[in-house]
Amino acid sequence: MSAYTAQPLIDGFPGKSSSHGGFGWSSLWLLMSASRRVLIDTGPPQYIPLIHDRLQQLGLTTSSITDVLVTHLHWDHVQNFTMYAGARVWVGDRELEWGRRQPAGTAFVPDLHIQDLVRRGDAVGRIRGEDEVLPGIGAIHSPGHTPGHLAFQVATSAGVLIFAGDAVKNIHELTKGAADSTMDQDLSHRTIVRLRGILRETDGILVPGHDVGLRFDGPRIERVKPQTAHIGYFADGECGARDRSIA
Ligand SMILES: [Zn+2]
Repeated sequence: MSAYTAQPLIDGFPGKSSSHGGFGWSSLWLLMSASRRVLIDTGPPQYIPLIHDRLQQLGLTTSSITDVLVTHLHWDHVQNFTMYAGARVWVGDRELEWGRRQPAGTAFVPDLHIQDLVRRGDAVGRIRGEDEVLPGIGAIHSPGHTPGHLAFQVATSAGVLIFAGDAVKNIHELTKGAADSTMDQDLSHRTIVRLRGILRETDGILVPGHDVGLRFDGPRIERVKPQTAHIGYFADGECGARDRSIA
């Protein structure tokens, strides 16, 4: 089993506006081994310039990415897959079959991107069951938020990482065992309980879809580092957006 080094390219943030919906600030992580550079999810379109900057800081480009693993087919997790021309995209078979049946205008589902995944045929890896997707990376069926949602369990040089996607969006969902946005609350509850059990058994770190990594500290679940984010907006007649902390 190959061990990966893992790092966030961009940390997720659990933000939602009461007037303008979710920010879509999802978690975007990079795994590296001797032979592979793997992205877990793709982030939303507003991350594109940030992704180029972060990859450049690591001496990489978008063509360095060998594989893109997608937890589910919501726009803020899948939409940037087209920017990695040399990468193999991996998506759950059940999720893709669900996504392709959704009519245009379905909330959070980017219909044109899903049509393109289907059109690519065998070039897109379809994950069935809970098989090992790549050496050291296993899939975990984690339905509720969407019907074919997948989490990924990864052996890294720093221990086990569990990429929960939106099966667990933030620290509050993991703590309470309930989800804010889900197609099936009961299924989501069972999925969160299962992932929490895997986190406990492995003494690892769980990366939610919209938060920094989480771990058990005794009986409590804690963030591995503070949540920091800023939002800028134009105010007081200024011509530049003023950056304000929302952490
Ligand atoms: Zn989602």
